[in-house]
Amino acid sequence: MSEKTLFERIIDREISADIIHEDEVCLAFKDIAPQAPFHILVIPKKPIPRLGEASDEDQNTLGHLLLTARSIAHDLGLADKENGFRIVINNGKDGGETVPHLHVHLIGGRSLSWPPG
Ligand code: 5GP
Repeated sequence: MSEKTLFERIIDREISADIIHEDEVCLAFKDIAPQAPFHILVIPKKPIPRLGEASDEDQNTLGHLLLTARSIAHDLGLADKENGFRIVINNGKDGGETVPHLHVHLIGGRSLSWPPG
């Protein structure tokens, strides 16, 4: 059996994290190195390594991650047109992925520049 990823260990409470939401499909917790006043990671409990390896069967899971991020953005007061937030999914080396367990970054609380570096 392959070793657990860091995020599987957070799901299993082997590593502590500041968890703000959990349901049967996903977990959401604060990023340990926040890039903005609000920086939340939303991850599936199913260990999908990255978006590029998701399958058609993961449609409900992927939708659930985005809708959960939306709900958290609302709860944090970020979802108005006047403030806003950014969703990021890094995929692979060039995409800046460092943890091989699919995760949606929800970032907000400051004005974010574009394009990304
Ligand atoms: P990636 O670079 O793969 O898109 O994002 C991985 C994210 O996980 C980074 O933003 C990083 O700060 C965060 N991270 C790495 N290790 C931990 C940890 O042990 N706990 C938490 N809460 N976040 C982590």
